[in-house]
Amino acid sequence: MALTGVSLIGGRNGEPGDGFSAVNPVTGEILEPKYAAASQAEIELAVRLAHDAFPSYAALPGGKKAEFLRSIASEIEGNAAEIVARAQLEAGLPKPRLDGELARTANQLRLFAEVVEEGSWVNARIDLPDAARKPPKHDIRSMLKPLGPTVIFGASNFPLAFSVAGGDTASALAAGNPVIVKAHPAHPGTSELVGLAIRRSVQACGLPEGVFSLLFDAGIEVGTRLVRHPLIKAVGFTGSLAGGRALMDLAASRPDPIPCYAEMGSVNPVFILPGALKSRGADIAAGLHASFTLGSGQFCTKPGLVFLPRQEESRNFASDLSERVQKTPSQTMLTSGIAQRYRSAIDARRSQDAAPVIAQSAASATAVACAQPVLFSTDAAVFLKNEDLSEEVFGPTTLLIEYESHSQALEAAEHLEGHLTATLLGTEEDFAAHRDLIAILERKVGRLVLNGYPTGVEVCHAMVHGGPYPATSDGRSTSVGTQAIFRFARPVCYQNFSNSLLPEELKSANPLKIWRMVDGVMTRESVARAGS
Ligand code: NAP
Repeated sequence: MALTGVSLIGGRNGEPGDGFSAVNPVTGEILEPKYAAASQAEIELAVRLAHDAFPSYAALPGGKKAEFLRSIASEIEGNAAEIVARAQLEAGLPKPRLDGELARTANQLRLFAEVVEEGSWVNARIDLPDAARKPPKHDIRSMLKPLGPTVIFGASNFPLAFSVAGGDTASALAAGNPVIVKAHPAHPGTSELVGLAIRRSVQACGLPEGVFSLLFDAGIEVGTRLVRHPLIKAVGFTGSLAGGRALMDLAASRPDPIPCYAEMGSVNPVFILPGALKSRGADIAAGLHASFTLGSGQFCTKPGLVFLPRQEESRNFASDLSERVQKTPSQTMLTSGIAQRYRSAIDARRSQDAAPVIAQSAASATAVACAQPVLFSTDAAVFLKNEDLSEEVFGPTTLLIEYESHSQALEAAEHLEGHLTATLLGTEEDFAAHRDLIAILERKVGRLVLNGYPTGVEVCHAMVHGGPYPATSDGRSTSVGTQAIFRFARPVCYQNFSNSLLPEELKSANPLKIWRMVDGVMTRESVARAGS
């Protein structure tokens, strides 16, 4: 399929122009075509089409939205070879990783299809009237409704699963919102191919064209204009703390503030507990090494702080991990900008005395955008005094921090900001003795992992990929898993509505057979109501 280099505005193509190109991070080759930044008129048209599409798309039955989401999944799978080949060129990621990511993208679209087809996600609640009560009680019913045109920013580190048809888009579309994606400039060709797949599904399902648009830009102009636009009602973002924070502030400073769900920095502390270090230090060194170097350390769940007790086995553990780091090949990063930021962050940390380097990959670099894995080490007292050591370094590095007592481990945990995950590696005895540590970490993160590693986020119903600021803009939400749909919906209440005026989900007969809370009790039964 020939790439066009223009934005996709509903069913129409944007104007070509002298724009920007993707660059192969392995070879430095400039990839054709050039992508034109969306013009002000194109932004306006995409937003207007989304606004016009909203009422009819929002009113679509769950089964129809499910058909649309499944169609997108099939369209992406139908063009998998081309999408993966282009993503390999643009992101430098290996084919098996991208094959897996494409499958994950299709699977999460299908999972949201199941959720909206089943229908109970709308959290329907019915309080039946009671005329005899003094004062009389009204008939009050509520459910979740979509927010309106939503802007999604594609992520650099997941060119498929968190980009054009990724989790944010899938959850916003599932909730009934038209979506405008601002493509990440690192992988415009991949974005266009996926955008075309969504466009074909919009057409095949007979939906209004404004349900989906894809806009390109090499800088922040288009994203800024979109977030400021009065007809945009919500934002989803995955990326840096600086970018996420800027968009949060922009969304909040509008005359009519809108929700901005940003998933940003996280350092994902790991606590190794004494019994585990004693009984299986070598296994833990292997597991941790695999986790923080996976995907060149370019995961928001990469473990970046590893707390270990000072005891007889600590030294062996550090040398085992060091040896693994020295033997790790240099790694390709997503863009030369991200590689440069990684090298600068490593140099900055190296130039401080707070945490010396104890190991570095001995391999020589081959890719243009490359990273050498590095291991730093310090102790908890120094960590507690140096705020810089808590910052995310995006790439294949981690920091070992020795704590000298149980109480110092608690102090270090208390010192942590919000993160996506916290991991504890221990024995049953360790966990029983560290309930206080677990209780502190529970306040700091969205997901607690026992005897595992934080990388690898399952897309399922119970997953929480969120956490208090600065991990996300709103710790009450998740960007992975089916609960992500709740970010893009709001409750609407109907008081004293006749049955014919109520949405299907709230009608007395329960025609959709969904789960509803009726007078405080969950049921799928119909409700009796005078005059209904
Ligand atoms: P980014 O710089 O935050 O950019 C993500 C997207 O947001 C891009 O499309 C970017 O546009 C846009 N953007 C950034 N700042 C903006 C602003 N002020 N206004 C409007 N739009 C804005 O993230 P990145 O390019 O993916 O990587 C840069 C760094 O982010 C990495 O080195 C890493 O430290 C961090 N990162 C963290 C995670 C994580 O999950 N924790 C994931 C990815 C990246 P432009 O690119 O066109 O400017």
